[in-house]
Amino acid sequence: MEKFRAWLEENMQGRYYLQESMKNHTSFHIGGPADIIVMPKDVEELRQLLAFIGDENIPLTIVGNGSNILVKDNGIRGVVIKIGNALKKLECNGNVIVAGAGVSLAAVAIKAASFNLTGLEFAVGIPGSLGGAVFMNAGAYDGEMKNVVKSVTVMHIKDGSVKVVKGKNLDFGYRCSALQAMECIITEITLKLVPGKKEAIAEKMADFTNCRITKQPLDMPNAGSMFKRPPGHYAGTLIQDAGLKGYKVGGAQVSKKHAGFVVNVGNATANDVLQLIKDVQDRVYEYSGVYLEPEVRVLGE
Ligand SMILES: Cc1cc2nc3c(=O)[nH]c(=O)nc-3n(C[C@H](O)[C@H](O)[C@H](O)COP(=O)(O)OP(=O)(O)OC[C@H]3O[C@@H](n4cnc5c(N)ncnc54)[C@H](O)[C@@H]3O)c2cc1C
Repeated sequence: MEKFRAWLEENMQGRYYLQESMKNHTSFHIGGPADIIVMPKDVEELRQLLAFIGDENIPLTIVGNGSNILVKDNGIRGVVIKIGNALKKLECNGNVIVAGAGVSLAAVAIKAASFNLTGLEFAVGIPGSLGGAVFMNAGAYDGEMKNVVKSVTVMHIKDGSVKVVKGKNLDFGYRCSALQAMECIITEITLKLVPGKKEAIAEKMADFTNCRITKQPLDMPNAGSMFKRPPGHYAGTLIQDAGLKGYKVGGAQVSKKHAGFVVNVGNATANDVLQLIKDVQDRVYEYSGVYLEPEVRVLGE
């Protein structure tokens, strides 16, 4: 680790932090410290980092914009690579958009709209990076990433090798993709959209934004829908029907505005959230016989 720190000091000054609280890197504002968090500026720096981390056998965690993760209270050992602020390429040629994994999904949706391309309107209010959205197969309303991803460039974390995988080979499913088992970092994404009508695209985006503002607890730290939608049900409705709207454990609360969200009402710990998840799972199962599976990914120790 000492050798690695010396390398960081020499090569990545201002783009790495030691013992950095993950509260500063998650939309939940929850999480213990990462031993080291680094923010590579480009693909070449990412490759150098991976070579070092591999040689030194340092544990590695990847985060995008931190909007779908719960980091445990003891934090993350080893190195966290944050892609959020790196890999910012964003180009549009005809109906194809090529973008870096660190570009915000909302920015890609807005770019598509500015070129009168339809297919990404659903993404306008999702606060993740494009890489995180592809990894999770993010979706909402009438769309999901699956429908627009043409191909993905990935860098293998073990040897830094790069390959391009076609979207149709990524086994996209509900909030999952083959990328989740691939031990790689998504660096670039090619999206294929369809020409549309400017007014219709703008209207759809405004409707979806309005829907989020009126229904979701956007004024409080959260990580989006806490649970996956169980087949034939809505998680929020099941939780509400089980009488759990507003249910609290420490600083974590089932949102009073939308029971599918868990919000941090002040200094919630990851333990509070994990206990709340378990209580909700037990009570909803008792009440309806449906087992709720978390959508948010739990990282750290
Ligand atoms: C208010 C709010 C509303 C939301 N609404 C929606 C919604 O409507 N639909 C929806 O699907 N989600 C929603 N989310 C959840 C979240 O925004 C999405 O899942 C988003 O796509 C996650 O992207 P991220 O960059 O924040 O990923 P992170 O949370 O940082 O990471 C998520 C996972 O992706 C991995 N990952 C991230 N980037 C990369 C990369 N470049 N290479 C390899 N692995 C990577 C991480 O290791 C982690 O396992 C919402 C969240 C919030 C806070």
